[in-house]
Order: sequence, then C-alpha cells, then structure tokens
Amino acid sequence: MKALQLTGWKQLPQFQEVATPEPGPGEVLVRIGAAGACHSDLHLFHDFEPGALPYELPFTLGHENAGVVEAFGAGVTGLDTGQPVVVYGPWGCGRCYPCVQGVENYCERQAEIGAAGGGLGRDGGMAPFMIVPAARYLVPLTDLDPVEAAPLTDAGLTPYHAIRRALPVLVPGATAVVIGAGGGLGHLAVQILRAVSSCRVIGVDTRDSGLELARRLGAHDAVMSGPDAEDEIRELTRGRGAEAVFDFVGIDPTMALGAAVVRPQGHLTVLGIGGGTLPISFFSIPYEVAVSTTYWGTIPELFEVIALAERGDITPVVHRYPLDDALDAYEAMRSGALEGRAVIVPEA
Ligand code: NAD
Ligand code: ZN
Ligand code: ZN
Repeated sequence: MKALQLTGWKQLPQFQEVATPEPGPGEVLVRIGAAGACHSDLHLFHDFEPGALPYELPFTLGHENAGVVEAFGAGVTGLDTGQPVVVYGPWGCGRCYPCVQGVENYCERQAEIGAAGGGLGRDGGMAPFMIVPAARYLVPLTDLDPVEAAPLTDAGLTPYHAIRRALPVLVPGATAVVIGAGGGLGHLAVQILRAVSSCRVIGVDTRDSGLELARRLGAHDAVMSGPDAEDEIRELTRGRGAEAVFDFVGIDPTMALGAAVVRPQGHLTVLGIGGGTLPISFFSIPYEVAVSTTYWGTIPELFEVIALAERGDITPVVHRYPLDDALDAYEAMRSGALEGRAVIVPEA
C-alpha cells in the first residue's frame, strides 16, 4: 500500500510503498477513512535535528485518525469488524498510574517507550490501513462521518483537555481568549468553549479569514493579533482582562499577550509549539495565574469530545485531500491558505 512517510529529518515526507500490515496478538487493523494533517507535523518536518526526538525513521504520518475495524489479532475481545472508530493518539504503557486512568498522554514510562503513537514515531493513518496496538485506543462512532471525526482526536481533544482544566474559572461573566482561533485546534476551541461554558469568547488571529471563521463558529469578538490586541481585549472586557487564555501559537509575542490580558487567578495555557518563552517573576504576571503547557488529552476526554460532536455541538471545518495530494494540504497550512483542518482521505 502507499503511505506518506517521514524518511529523514529537516525534509518533507515522501510517498513509499509499504506492506499492508497484519494485526498481531492484541492489535487491531483499522481501515483508514480519514487522517487529519496537524501543524505539529510541520514542526516535525522542519524544526528537529536528527536525534532530537526519540523516533526511528521511517514511519507513516497521520496522528488524527478515523476509520473502521478491518481485522484484529488473537486476544482482542468486545470489538466487531466493520465498527466505525476514532483512534486515541498518545500510546503509553497501559499499566502505570496515569495510564490506568486513561491519561496515556502522560505515561510514566514514556522515556522507555520512545514513540508517542501512530504518526509520531510509529506508523500512522496517512495510508489505507494502520495498526492500533490495543483495543483501548478505539472510541466507537455512531453516526459521525470519519472525515469530520478524525480531527476530533487531536484538534478537538487537545483544546478540550485544556478547557476542561480551566472550567472552574469560566463562570458566567468570564472571558476566554483563544489565540490562533482560525486554525485547526483554535476553531474547535471556540466551539468547545461555547458548548461547555457560558463565558464570553474572544478569538485572536493574524488572518482576517481566521477571525471571520472564529466569529462564524461562535466567538463573540475577534481581535487582530499584534501590538493593539492587548488594548482591544482590555476594552472588550471593560479593563478586567480574561479568566483564561489558550495560546495555540506559543511564540514570544502571543505568550506575552496572554500574560498581559490574563486576570489574577486565571489560567494561561500554552498549547502551540512555536518555541517561545515567557519570563516569569513575582511582579511580571498577575497573582495566582496558573501558567501551564498541556499535551493532548485523555481517553475518557476523547469519549466526551465525540459525544459533543455526535450531538452536533461541535463540528470541525474540514477540507478533504486525497492521499496523493497530502503535501498540498501541508503547504496550504504552512502558507496560511487553510481554514480549519485539512483531512487526508486515503481512498478518495
Ligand atoms: P494551524 O496552522 O491550523 O493554526 C494556527 C493558527 O494560528 C492559524 O489560524 C494562524 O493564522 C494563527 N496564527 C499564526 N500566528 C499567529 C499569531 N502570531 N497570533 C495569532 N494567531 C496566529 O495549526 P494547528 O494544527 O491548529 O496547531 C497549532 C499549534 O498547536 C501548533 O504549534 C501545533 O504544533 C500545536 N499542537 C499542540 C498540541 C499539544 O498537545 N499541545 C497538539 C496539537 C497541536
Ligand atoms: Zn497534532
Ligand atoms: Zn504508562
């Protein structure tokens, strides 16, 4: 089968002919319906020196996957072939304390395991089939289209996890700021905030199209990123600032904006892997602000995200690309031409 693989560092991925995999004991073979293209893949192509990540090359890209169960190996129970599923992406040991709670994104044995999951060190979904190492990574779908479901596993799950942590401060009357609101994660963050809280949502982006998308999806206000953004957000919040800021860019200026507009006792969560830093001193940030990074989300949270989507509260904005055109999808994302999420459809 044809697979889009990362074959070297500091270079674009390549199409390779690989054997169609067969599921071993405990494993599930998923026929891929759709695989989302994440901005983290662009970081993977361009930002890492050889040896910086614990991944062996080559591996098939695609860490946001949906499809149907095609076959499974010995010992797998409780699954039927033909079952539509999404694939939980960060694969841990399954045995440590975080893992047994479904928090495999923070597995204690990650250093031993090395790869983060399918599409991140192990073969992912930018191919007609992928192996999922355990049935616990599959969340069943009822009536969602796999093309809309695939982005939920990362572009939906990652903001959901961060927003869920901040819910205690997102009371009625509170404000949440989403930086990068027109992107894959950001446009879902806006919808999730509207679905699970009654806070006011302010979207921030550098692109007019991103601001329009954020407004269309429920942001109450949209603010152009840049030197005036801090004052505009202050004005919109009558000087109070925001209870929570979710930064899906993570460069120096966006992190500084977050620190400038967050309120005392608020949450400043950095999810974007832009490589920025935020100096923190006693007087540089309002009192009791929780500054954190978050990585992906948990298995139970993926069930919750799928439930939100199945009842129509959140809907990814997707652009379909046949597998052959996957590099065009990444280029559209890199150049800022993409709205929402690009999804690769192997059999299109
Ligand atoms: P994307 O390219 O789809 O979206 C990025 C958005 O940010 C775009 O709308 C863009 O116009 C906007 N933007 C760019 N610069 C900006 C600026 N200075 N101010 C405001 N907006 C700006 O990317 P994505 O797939 O949504 O990913 C976003 C980031 O999140 C990436 O760095 C990615 O690697 C990271 N990510 C992190 C996790 C995690 O677990 N923490 C998971 C997935 C992705
Ligand atoms: Zn991702
Ligand atoms: Zn573990």
